[in-house]
Amino acid sequence: MFGADVTPATTILGPGADADVAIVGGIHGDEPSGVRAVRRVIESNPSFQRPVKLVIANPPAVASHRRYLDVDMNRVFPGDPASPDQERRLAAATLKEINDCSVVLSLHSTHSYDDPIALVSRSNPPVQGLAARLPVSHIVDPTPCFDGAFPACAPVVSVEAGRQLTEEATENATDIVAAFLRLTDALPGEVPTTDSTYYTVTDAVSKQPDTDYELQIENFEVVEPGTTVARSEDREYVADDAFVPILMSETGYDDILGYKGETAGTSLSSARATWGVPPRSSD
Ligand SMILES: [Zn+2]
Repeated sequence: MFGADVTPATTILGPGADADVAIVGGIHGDEPSGVRAVRRVIESNPSFQRPVKLVIANPPAVASHRRYLDVDMNRVFPGDPASPDQERRLAAATLKEINDCSVVLSLHSTHSYDDPIALVSRSNPPVQGLAARLPVSHIVDPTPCFDGAFPACAPVVSVEAGRQLTEEATENATDIVAAFLRLTDALPGEVPTTDSTYYTVTDAVSKQPDTDYELQIENFEVVEPGTTVARSEDREYVADDAFVPILMSETGYDDILGYKGETAGTSLSSARATWGVPPRSSD
């Protein structure tokens, strides 16, 4: 069905062909909320004030309802157009698609949390400014642990819209898209401000293969030393140090439970100070 020349599915809406903003869904084929949010935009064809590029990044995985077919696309950016792995070629092709864009919204969903979470790299200050104005209360810099992720290679704010395969995730993704289109002046209108907390990922939490875990903690609620983090049939995993659980789930990843992090700030400026980003005059 899909030959070696498989490409992202791209639509440009609005006046002109040179889109400076893009929305990407379907990097992971088993996260339909982002794909649905992108398709809703295409189907409703709003009167955009500027051109917007809409991209389904991994059509074969979306058609198969699988996270990926060869390799996890969100771990292999910038990709390789000559690779035998489909997702490495698609990663390279997706980067090429958004090459002229100054800001990109990438939509995902998770096993870990109901509410949207934004991920931005500390090396992309303008994208942080945009993430700070999205209706998202948790904003995470994953830089130390997200080698090969899309936001590490391009001006991308990645949003985990909610729990995978839920209608709520699709509604959240649709709301985030609407806010993004207003913040980028593709659509008129204001976006109400949201109070956000900023975090830095510090470490991945590994898990044993073929072991079932029961998590005993809540994401974004500080874990104190001595707290039981997870239980398996024969073991209890107790925290040595305090940390903030981020994207932790029992089934989200094959090899890790999720991530440890720490709070970077309760405002964009305080988070930037923690991340070593120079203050900016405007966002
Ligand atoms: Zn994903």
